[in-house]
Amino acid sequence: MKPMLIHNARLFCGVDEEVIDDGTIWVMNGFVRYAGPSVDFRHDGTDVEVYDAEGKFVMPGMTESHVHLSYNNAHPQQLNNQPLPLAMLDAVENARVLLGSGFTSAISFGSAQGLDVPLRDAINEGRVCGPRLAASDRDLGSTGSNADGTFGGDESKKIIADGPWAIRKAVRSLAKKRCDIVKIFLDGEALNEYAPPGVLTYSDEEVDAAVSEAHIRGMRVVCHSRSAAAVKQAVRFGVDIIGHANYLDEEAVAMLEAERHRIFVGPGIAWEISLLDKGAQLGLPRDAMEQRGYQREVDETIASVKRLRESNVRVLVGGDYGLNITPHGTNAKDLEYFVDLFGMSNVEALLCATRDGGAAANTEGMVGTLEDGKYADLVIVDGDPSVDVRVLQDHDRIVGVMKAGIMHCGLMQSNPYVAQENTINK
Ligand SMILES: [Zn+2]
Repeated sequence: MKPMLIHNARLFCGVDEEVIDDGTIWVMNGFVRYAGPSVDFRHDGTDVEVYDAEGKFVMPGMTESHVHLSYNNAHPQQLNNQPLPLAMLDAVENARVLLGSGFTSAISFGSAQGLDVPLRDAINEGRVCGPRLAASDRDLGSTGSNADGTFGGDESKKIIADGPWAIRKAVRSLAKKRCDIVKIFLDGEALNEYAPPGVLTYSDEEVDAAVSEAHIRGMRVVCHSRSAAAVKQAVRFGVDIIGHANYLDEEAVAMLEAERHRIFVGPGIAWEISLLDKGAQLGLPRDAMEQRGYQREVDETIASVKRLRESNVRVLVGGDYGLNITPHGTNAKDLEYFVDLFGMSNVEALLCATRDGGAAANTEGMVGTLEDGKYADLVIVDGDPSVDVRVLQDHDRIVGVMKAGIMHCGLMQSNPYVAQENTINK
């Protein structure tokens, strides 16, 4: 692969809030070798491919911190119902769409039918297009937890384990499958009849078993914890990434702050907002959802994220895209929520999506910023997301996505596996 020089770029390295007016990025063997002001760049004379960005915005690839590539853009209560062969085709498509939307890394928060691991391997082998994927498998939960019912169905969709030894066995089975991530449910969901937020669905000793066994096996643990009690349980027993954390009290915030060097929180607010705004079309009208507590959940989340930011706890972008109300490829909508709901500046939202998401996705610190020695994962945008992050939602403005030094163009314009209209019968 020939080294590549991208110059004449409006460059956001993701290290801090700085945007460089005239920047250069030098990419060699899949790694960034230089990213900074063009005036400071000295070329060593190597034969390079030159790309003139013509003033376009170049930024690190984003991380979707809570992905479900098994979701098939279906009704929330009818997810993951497709048979396995179709589910895998959907997942391959969803991975391509996610990469094409500017997300070069993704952390799985559960994958029905165990699609993630073979998908991750196929992506790594270059057989299909997709982000770097931290792969999980089916959700792990107790009898009567949100995992036990959300998707209905049999054990191809979920793992129900009760008691520390059953849980250790389940986690060991995930290690045997070569998962990177274990997803556990610590509390529930307002739509769930028997496991609402705040009811702890695992005991302390069960959470301890799940996390310690996962860590022994080199896997990380992500959880669904909406209530302060479930967040505290997660922090206490070493969960790595906490999903939701909607309802926090002083103690929960203090515990997260004390562990902020290692822990990440992803609110995943697209779910509540979309349910309230679009649920009526699905037979889930707004007033009924408000009665269930979803508006309160949004209000509490806004207050919680504010406190997390004041405590410098890293807050991640993404979560629960892949429903009919939040289709795959609309993931960058999250940055708009970060600005409009959580009061961040556009650049702060970008840092959550790049630097902080990257730190969560890759524990060796190889992604999320453009710096010498990091993987060359970047996005070229025709527009300026440091002024308005909404431009990232326009697929026509994502003119190039580079992963490991390989440029992918037109991922969203056409599906490479489908003959396009104007190429048939010519
Ligand atoms: Zn989820």
